[in-house]
Amino acid sequence: MFTDSPQKIGTDHLARDAFLYVRQSSLRQVMENTESTQRQYGLRERAVALGWPRERIHVIDSDLGRSGAKADHRDGFQYLVTAVALGHAGIVLGLEVSRLARNNADWHRLIELAALSHTLILDEDGIYDPAHFNDRLLLGLKGTMSEAELHVLNARLQGGIRNKARRGELELPLPIGLVYDAEGVVALDPDRQIQGSVRLLFETFREGASATSVVKRFAREGLLFPRRIRRGVGKGEVLWGPLNHSRVLQILHNPRYAGAFVYGRTRSGRTAELRPTTLEVPRESWEVLIPDAHVGYLTWEEYERNQTTLEQNATGFGSVARGSTPREGVALLQGRVVCGRCGARMRVRYQQVAGRLEPYYQCAEAAVRQAARPCQSIRGRAIDEAISALLLETVAPAALEVALAVQEEIAARIAQAEELRHAQLERARYEAELARRRYLAVDPANRLVADALEALEREHDHQRQADQGLLSEEARQQILGLTKDLRRVWNDPATVPLERKRMVALLIEDATLIKEQDMRIHVRFRGGRTTSLTVDRPQSMALVRKTRSEVVDALDRLLETYTDREAAVALNERGYRNWQGQSFTPKKVSLVRRTYGLKSRFERLRARGLLTGEEMAHRLGVSTTTVHTLGRTGLLPRHLYGSPVRCLYEPIDPTLFLKGKGGRRPRPPALITVPSSAQESV
Ligand SMILES: [Zn+2]
Repeated sequence: MFTDSPQKIGTDHLARDAFLYVRQSSLRQVMENTESTQRQYGLRERAVALGWPRERIHVIDSDLGRSGAKADHRDGFQYLVTAVALGHAGIVLGLEVSRLARNNADWHRLIELAALSHTLILDEDGIYDPAHFNDRLLLGLKGTMSEAELHVLNARLQGGIRNKARRGELELPLPIGLVYDAEGVVALDPDRQIQGSVRLLFETFREGASATSVVKRFAREGLLFPRRIRRGVGKGEVLWGPLNHSRVLQILHNPRYAGAFVYGRTRSGRTAELRPTTLEVPRESWEVLIPDAHVGYLTWEEYERNQTTLEQNATGFGSVARGSTPREGVALLQGRVVCGRCGARMRVRYQQVAGRLEPYYQCAEAAVRQAARPCQSIRGRAIDEAISALLLETVAPAALEVALAVQEEIAARIAQAEELRHAQLERARYEAELARRRYLAVDPANRLVADALEALEREHDHQRQADQGLLSEEARQQILGLTKDLRRVWNDPATVPLERKRMVALLIEDATLIKEQDMRIHVRFRGGRTTSLTVDRPQSMALVRKTRSEVVDALDRLLETYTDREAAVALNERGYRNWQGQSFTPKKVSLVRRTYGLKSRFERLRARGLLTGEEMAHRLGVSTTTVHTLGRTGLLPRHLYGSPVRCLYEPIDPTLFLKGKGGRRPRPPALITVPSSAQESV
């Protein structure tokens, strides 16, 4: 063969070292394919025959056990490239040399470097000098072929799997609740407890519309969820444990529960650190999706709905659709109010008013993000009332159906939970019995197991009673009666705000609020219809916190002569209470006074012409301190008001105020001895 010409080997090649690259692509190959390893090491003898001293033949085999398809972390190959680049290598030896690098780019780089550094390449077919065009072409071709071969191999391997998958015949591991029957057909798990648990999960989600609601319910009712051990010790066994959030999501996202066969939901990828990882593939890129391929726990339509719901719930963490899941609290529009001024989502805040929680819709976006003033804050009651009226008028029949469905669901799920708990108890009893037999000889009393069982039985009874309460005939009648009249269901205080909100959620997409002279509400219904409402601006708090008019009148009279503090005492003595049924304090008196526009004691005194200390000082031509001193000693007639206590002075004629010689000091005696009669006579 023309390439196998020893003439290619020059003294400069022999002066440098030889590098024998030994490569096995997988650990299994290392174990099983020792023959190939023998052949690779046989190349060393060829190098010796070509003139390289044995001690200058370096064997690089650090790639053993690593696949060639990925070039990262392949220290051996890197080492080889470095040796070639630095001109340390006179020849590179390898079995099927093109497989030195399975990646074509790596291979071409090596050829280029070898050409530059005049390094020869030797494989079983012959010796190549990459500096020669023909050899380079041949080597390049070998690399390409090798890559193609790898691709074909891979495709052949994957192709079989894919073809099977495309027909929906590939046996993939099934999630809990689904099993392969004897014929290899997907079926619901015959274990009734497992089946019931999976059903309950989906049904709870149907009702609560959030994964958290599912977790909460399982925790609250002490229900466990099954998990099948996939590999290792105890493979195939079922373990029962508490249900957590990520598991619920996993199940809700799994299309197999909807009876769909899916292939290619994930693919392997690499992180930025080149670590292998599993990446999720978007639905539109799934390789195979066959709806209704086998039995399931829900319909494909419901599965799709669930995905939308989960998506909306998840964006609650972002800013767009925050809180679209109804939560506790009375604010009807929670999660679906938009600020008409800035377009941000408004939040609900509750404030204690007159002994009950009043909702406020607040646009606090700016306040939270930029520490600015809240954009607008609107008292929710009037808005909620307007929305209620709107719903009752326009969509009553639809809402009635919703209410009925909700109540029916409650009954159904109580029965279902009861059944599951019963199964759980049965299993516990069985296990206790087993344990008892097993340990009888060791511990006849066997308290531990008995205690656990007792506790479980107690809990079981307790839950059953609680559920029975919900299902009592009376409650049932009430529910039936209520559903007959939506208006009553809606307005009944027994209807949980959450239910009301759920009805709103079904009907209304969002409402935009703008507070101006009056309140404008723009409602967007599900399906796109819109309507606008106008309500009077919510009443001021003062009007809400209405104090009885007789109390206000009494206070008005009292303030003629009393300060706030004295008026508070007087009101309390007369048995008056404020709007919250509390006794009066000076502060509360002042609040009522200001709210109802009653003149303060100060204003009343001023209206009668009384003067402040400064005015008095100016009038008398003395200092303010002097005026106050005189006031305190009773020399100047004054009236007290306010808290802290201040005073106003009765106006007196400054001519009565005798000046001392040359000084500005007043002569108090002259002043105070002026009797009112004398004053008139002057
Ligand atoms: Zn705003």
